[in-house]
Amino acid sequence: MSDKHLLSLYNIVAHDSVDARHHGAVSMPVYQNSLFAFDDYASFERAAADEQFVPVYSRGANPTVAYLEAKLAALERGERARCFASGMAAISSTLHALLHTGDHVICVEQAYGPTRQFLKEMSERYGVEVTYVDGRSADEFAAALRPNTRLIYLESPTSIRFQLQDLRAVAALARRAGVLTVADNSWATPCFQQPLTMGIDLVVHSLSKYVSGHSDCIGGAVVGRADLVGEIFSKGYMLLGGIMAPQTASLMTRGLRTLPLRMERHHRSGLAVAEYLERHPRVTRVNHPGLASHPQHELAKRQLSGYGSLFSFETETDADTMKKWAETLNYFRIGVSWGGFESLVTVHALDGNTDRGSRSLIRLFVGMEDPDTLIEDMERAWKTVQG
Ligand SMILES: *Cc1c(COP(=O)(O)O)cnc(C)c1O
Repeated sequence: MSDKHLLSLYNIVAHDSVDARHHGAVSMPVYQNSLFAFDDYASFERAAADEQFVPVYSRGANPTVAYLEAKLAALERGERARCFASGMAAISSTLHALLHTGDHVICVEQAYGPTRQFLKEMSERYGVEVTYVDGRSADEFAAALRPNTRLIYLESPTSIRFQLQDLRAVAALARRAGVLTVADNSWATPCFQQPLTMGIDLVVHSLSKYVSGHSDCIGGAVVGRADLVGEIFSKGYMLLGGIMAPQTASLMTRGLRTLPLRMERHHRSGLAVAEYLERHPRVTRVNHPGLASHPQHELAKRQLSGYGSLFSFETETDADTMKKWAETLNYFRIGVSWGGFESLVTVHALDGNTDRGSRSLIRLFVGMEDPDTLIEDMERAWKTVQG
């Protein structure tokens, strides 16, 4: 972890100048308004001509949401950000706004499932062509380029097997080809990875995960070049209407205040638990980019300054047995999603044909609990499975 980089982010989440428009209120008030009224027609018309930035109607701009957007743009070093009702609303609105019939997309094979499903819909209904690549080598993207390639969709690392794409290399080859790049940065957060500084055009987020941080709200964002975010606003945000509500923006802002602090904890605890599992005789492999054993660890060190605490491990033990193992755990709860305070576990069956003979993959989210307690919890669970 680079302390200097992270400390500069602490300033962004913690510091605001006094805002006299809000009586100096230290947290942004919730503008629970559908519309904003005007004294005279001239100012109404001026505002309506700039509805992307000036509050006219909350499906366009709302001050509480705009406050969060400005913070996210600063954290990702992007020109502009837009918040949405969910990560999927941000992703689908972005793809819907930027893609046309006949365009070609290159997408990472292991990208978030609903993202791939949306691309499948776009290909079946609207004739958008999609090529999936493993993504671990930048050459695969170069080889998949076509004259009609419009966009490359990345997610680094992926969130089941935690494979990386070389963001700088893919951004550079996309630039040369005049192709847009979009990267899902939910796992690393801007605390540990800033794809826009590596040449990526747009970053998308599920804010429901680490940014919210408290497992109590759903939201998403797109951050990046002002012209592209503007296009997504007019064709995706306003028309599809998957906007973030002001109450949600307020909760997200509350989460954001402690994001770097929580990420420091998640980084350390996640690595501690991953290192424990790596030493366990029943574990065939741990998929965590922060471990020296990860096949892309050198790349991870070049483009990540720290690590999220969502990772997976593989074992020769079958999935049914590992589901019992998961049920035996006291500190890990069985559930989807991640990024909150609480540790989570899910079990996935593998075909057993991997080179390591792994029969199941267990995805763990390491929350805010004492990592030693989490390790003791797992030690106890392994005993019940073996016994
Ligand atoms: C959860 C998730 C999403 C979707 O976000 P929602 O807020 O659930 O719509 C997208 N990408 C990744 C990597 C995710 O984990």
